[in-house]
Amino acid sequence: MSIPHAQEIAQALVDWFTAHGRDYPWRRTTEPWAILVSEIMLQQTTIPTVLGRYEGWMAQFPTPAALAAATEEEALRSWEGLGYYRRVRALQAAARAIVQQHGGQFPTAEADIRALPGIGDYTVGAVLSFAFNRPAPLVDANVSRVFARLFNDTTPVDSPAGRKLHWKWAAALVHPTNARAYNSALMELGQTICTGSSEPDCLLCPLRSWCRATNPAALPVKLPRKEITAVEHHDILLLTPAGLLMEKQAGGKRHEGMYRLPRRPAEHCAALPHITDQKYSITRYKVTRHLYRAPADTVPLPGEEFIPLSELAATPMASPDRKLVNLYTGE
Ligand code: SF4
Repeated sequence: MSIPHAQEIAQALVDWFTAHGRDYPWRRTTEPWAILVSEIMLQQTTIPTVLGRYEGWMAQFPTPAALAAATEEEALRSWEGLGYYRRVRALQAAARAIVQQHGGQFPTAEADIRALPGIGDYTVGAVLSFAFNRPAPLVDANVSRVFARLFNDTTPVDSPAGRKLHWKWAAALVHPTNARAYNSALMELGQTICTGSSEPDCLLCPLRSWCRATNPAALPVKLPRKEITAVEHHDILLLTPAGLLMEKQAGGKRHEGMYRLPRRPAEHCAALPHITDQKYSITRYKVTRHLYRAPADTVPLPGEEFIPLSELAATPMASPDRKLVNLYTGE
């Protein structure tokens, strides 16, 4: 695919980023492990949250070998507050592959990076360009928004046709010698100027001379959203001298390996004293969790165990559980 003015567009992005790019810890390094960690963290977590966690996490696991040697519980615990725990499991699997297959040295060949567990097209592009400055394309939601407006294109960006088109544009436009700044610029332009939450600030945009958008606020077009589903859970709280009763999640669930307050059928809880309701959203689910106090003679079900209070801090659990556990164990 050839794009008119591709070189000028790419150079304008690089120049703009050189003058206006933001300083983040992951932009001060070209170490591929540090880049990979930042990219995995940033995929589903906001920049301010990642800023508060990234350097501490890197100090804990500065190399693939350090994460490879950690237990799964340690890895999950380190990820608390960042959400989407499959990411840290995949990161640990990648770290172990780097240790076992590459002697602990981060691979440099694209095929080897792509073969690491949990690494998709976006992450390959990010590692190749940010760590090695190779002309590799990348597309994320910010880049897609910029492209849809720049080319005034109404193909839904989250459709297979839209994704294919955007990756072709990304490959055709990528700067041949400064992909590091170019890809950073594209993403940052989408975050700060060509934004989705408000009108784009076109007067400040380095691409305005080439931008074809006639109504930028109407772009990008997306497929109809999946409906939000309301779900209710009925959980119990049982604190004894042996500790807090918790259930270890298993069976390939989103939170496999993490602990949560034990779940019971609604009818089982009907006669129990109600403590509180907790509401939160996760992906397309709106969750209401009803919490009940369980009697002292409650028999643990398979998979449930008493965790001593002194071990709760090191026990991995998702943020909603951590809040309740801290609240009701006085942490
Ligand atoms: S000119 Fe406006 S709509 Fe076009 S890419 Fe720049 S900020 Fe986005």
